[in-house]
Amino acid sequence: MERWRWRSMGVAIWLTALVALAAGLIEVFGPHPMDPSAPGLRDLPYALDLHLLAAVGVTLGLRALFRRAAETTFPSIALGGMLMLELGVVGVHWLIKVPFLPRFYTPAGKAVAAIAFLAAIVLGLVLARLVARALRRETWIRWTRGLWGVSGIGLAIAILGLNAVLFLTAMPRPVRSAVRSYAAGHPRPDVFIILVDTLRRDHLSYFGYPRPTSPNIDRLLSESVVFTAASTPSTWTIPSVASLFTGLYPTSHQVTGATNRIAADAPLLAEHFRSYGYRTGAFVANQIVTRRNGYGQGFEAFFPPSPPWWTYHQLTAFERLASRVRKPASASQGWRINQEFLRWLKATPDQPHFAYLHYLDPHSPYEPPAEDLQAVAPDAPRGPADPPRIRAYVNQIRDPTCRDWECLESPPSLPPEELAGMIARYDAEIRYTDRMIGALLDKLGRTGALERCHILFLTDHGEEFADHHGWSHGNSIYEEMIGCPMAYRPPGGRPGGGTIARPTPELDLLLTLCRILGLDDPPLHQGREIPELLGRPAPATVPPVLSEIPPHLYALRQGPWKLIRRGSTHSPDWRLYNLQDDPGELHDVADTYPDTLAALRGYLEGRLAELAKVTLMEISSTTDPELLERLRSLGYIQ
Ligand SMILES: [Zn+2]
Repeated sequence: MERWRWRSMGVAIWLTALVALAAGLIEVFGPHPMDPSAPGLRDLPYALDLHLLAAVGVTLGLRALFRRAAETTFPSIALGGMLMLELGVVGVHWLIKVPFLPRFYTPAGKAVAAIAFLAAIVLGLVLARLVARALRRETWIRWTRGLWGVSGIGLAIAILGLNAVLFLTAMPRPVRSAVRSYAAGHPRPDVFIILVDTLRRDHLSYFGYPRPTSPNIDRLLSESVVFTAASTPSTWTIPSVASLFTGLYPTSHQVTGATNRIAADAPLLAEHFRSYGYRTGAFVANQIVTRRNGYGQGFEAFFPPSPPWWTYHQLTAFERLASRVRKPASASQGWRINQEFLRWLKATPDQPHFAYLHYLDPHSPYEPPAEDLQAVAPDAPRGPADPPRIRAYVNQIRDPTCRDWECLESPPSLPPEELAGMIARYDAEIRYTDRMIGALLDKLGRTGALERCHILFLTDHGEEFADHHGWSHGNSIYEEMIGCPMAYRPPGGRPGGGTIARPTPELDLLLTLCRILGLDDPPLHQGREIPELLGRPAPATVPPVLSEIPPHLYALRQGPWKLIRRGSTHSPDWRLYNLQDDPGELHDVADTYPDTLAALRGYLEGRLAELAKVTLMEISSTTDPELLERLRSLGYIQ
């Protein structure tokens, strides 16, 4: 009897495995409505493994659940269960991406998904019943007594065994420790880096914006040295934050694609601080900045926590299943960043903290709380929550070397009312973030931490509202994109504040911070010192400031001048603007000032050639003995 039972399970494994194979093939080769991250051929092994693993799980689970089911009915039960799972999970996963259906995160979208899920369950049951009818009792008995039963069990063991082996090979290696032995207990001041994603400088009231978007940030800036012409290193999160963490420009760190990972041997800012005995924590609302992509190196605490280690390597189907079932903790709202940061700060009193707080609220979709919309723009018309995405228009771009909005034949536009409504929503998101930063500063003020900490205030990039025919960020390099509201607040604040009006890169502030604190320069850092912050006179000459999205867009700022290089490496389009006369960058004066153009062009070409000599890939093979010694002393290399 017992042997009969195992064999019927073996038959059930074969049936569910067939469904799994079909689902895996459909998932990889089937239609993917509007899904840029759709799986391709290289995903086939995991997709098949995922579904086969699910088949084994469903069969074992149902056998345990239906212990009393007759042996001749169990294969049908397992088949029904598997069909319901595949139709429900894979089918609904597909359905929610169909463009004409409401977005999944809206109530209507959730209702559609729930109805589809119920329909999938009913359909699975009906299909299983039809198959069970077609293959009558005699067929099950014949199959069960044949090789199918035994080999099905073998198949299940093979699938589980393979996954177990891959699971064990994905186990993480021990993390190297870069903490200096003498550092424990060494008194050092706290350092907090506050970055607000997608924050346009000219939309803060401090910089003259007419709406009251930022009373709390204004208060912070009024006690700080404010850089009124600072630039971000790039125009979207991945390369910009990689620059802040590595101290390298994008041409050097090469982390410019969404799936790029910061090289594991890159010495990062948090590791540098940790090597001086700092407790290090990152609280990041933008979930493309993850430990998995290397941004967590050097941070003891990283919020949101990564998915479990056994899901890191994308090797097994188990990983995919786990990451679908177990979504990372949601951190997209500012209050969560405050909550997690303050909890961490409280847990490690009397120790120096290096914290990176990354707020995301101004990033689209612009869905501010009603009270913030009321506060900044009570009479604003209704507007969309999402800007157009260039991805939807790329087929209009004829020139493959050009990727920005200006390459489109007819860039998307919005009626003025809707545009005004959308900007009001964005401003209200800034206002929400400002309230959160206000709450944070109040709390730090009450505990006395504000008296002792160094604060940097930054953004990773701005946002465009058709200022230059574009939307969102990452595909243009005008000032609305790279202009950074950058500030440094010393412990206790700087009475009366202060401003530095020359163009300044963010990397310079990070390097200067290390010097203010008396730390060595972070290894490989490409920033330069800002002498005024160290009590020294301003430099007589300063080199132009670079921002870039290699290999398509580059910008240099020097004095009133701004140079832009667009398009192909071989025949780029050069533009020159005088920001003093033309802050909106509307009138290209390259032809009027050929000497300025030539000088900035020459500098840019030389600088890029220089930056291209340093790449993260080469760090582990560097031959500079001094650098090797430094890296070794910090524990970055053996
Ligand atoms: Zn960003």
